[in-house]
Amino acid sequence: MANDSSRIMNPSSDPAGELERHLRPQSLADYVGQDIVKERLHIFIQAALARRDALDHVLLYGPPGLGKTTLAHIIANELGVNIRYTSGPAIDRPGDLASILTNLDDREVLFIDEIHRLSRPVEEVLYPAMEDFALDLILGKGPGARSVRLDLPHFTLVGATTRAGMLTAPLRDRFGVITHLDFYTADDLARIVRRSANVLQVEVSDEAAVEIARRSRGTPRIANRLLRRLRDYAEVRGDGTVSLLVAMEGLKLLEVDPQGLDAVDRRILQAILERYAGGPVGLETLAAGVGEEAGTIEDVYEPYLLQQGYIQRTPRGRVLAVRGYQMLGVPVPATPNLWSQEQFEPDSSV
Ligand code: ADP
Repeated sequence: MANDSSRIMNPSSDPAGELERHLRPQSLADYVGQDIVKERLHIFIQAALARRDALDHVLLYGPPGLGKTTLAHIIANELGVNIRYTSGPAIDRPGDLASILTNLDDREVLFIDEIHRLSRPVEEVLYPAMEDFALDLILGKGPGARSVRLDLPHFTLVGATTRAGMLTAPLRDRFGVITHLDFYTADDLARIVRRSANVLQVEVSDEAAVEIARRSRGTPRIANRLLRRLRDYAEVRGDGTVSLLVAMEGLKLLEVDPQGLDAVDRRILQAILERYAGGPVGLETLAAGVGEEAGTIEDVYEPYLLQQGYIQRTPRGRVLAVRGYQMLGVPVPATPNLWSQEQFEPDSSV
């Protein structure tokens, strides 16, 4: 990351992990926003509890920092069971996953973050585990080898991914509940800021909460992070209260602009305009021009810029959209490099 402010706005890095866990809501009732997702999960959880059965496997997808891990913990809490946490890149070999699975208890939740990064051989162990609660083991080698099937406890897999499009079809099809988390509205984020302020015992005025919410890129993790930085600012430069004035000054220092874009967002927009004449420009080329990794741009920065209409994705690459030109303060060209709607490639992250 290039500078402090970009780190602050990067919802995927988590330097204050301990504090973040502290801020996590523990129940569905405490989880702000995402009403449809919550209602759906509430019904499925209640039904599973009534049947004394494991909840069906759940896939949560959406950009980082929107509350997937939080929701996985809440699911386990509401089911009254333990949660085991792992991630796609952490499981090296099929045997690692086999030992995690055989150590689960009935109805426990196994949370696999970044599930799109599981290796193929590991993923193949998951298929029978998810579908039949079984583990197929090959004993011996060569012609004498035989396969035995071990029964597994009835568990619930909760998978999280920023890119549902990168999941293989057989894996995706084995989830009974597939749920997309959207960016939060400013109202919901303001509620999250007020809730977090309560937990952190910092006084935040209503106007300041709204301002922080507006500038958080629709992302609770960023809202919480800005709140923590503004608390520091208020303690050093003021009397500890985050007033609107303190929030405005602090956000300026953090290089978060009134639209909530950070320095990397602006570099992306500027690069498309200045180096590639408004686009189209391919992701890899753009990443090299901006000095960020292509995956970070695709997972962290682009979804919000797309959703807010700053850029558009076309079959030939990214182009600056009308709002992007306006934001950079340059006139929108008479024929902006936009493509007709039907030529847009489907968004693989959706
Ligand atoms: P993800 O797993 O999608 O990257 P997390 O679940 O780690 O995101 O959420 C990041 C932080 O944002 C959490 O620590 C939590 O405090 C906060 N958060 C996320 N969603 C909500 C929500 N709906 N209500 C309140 N706080 C939330």
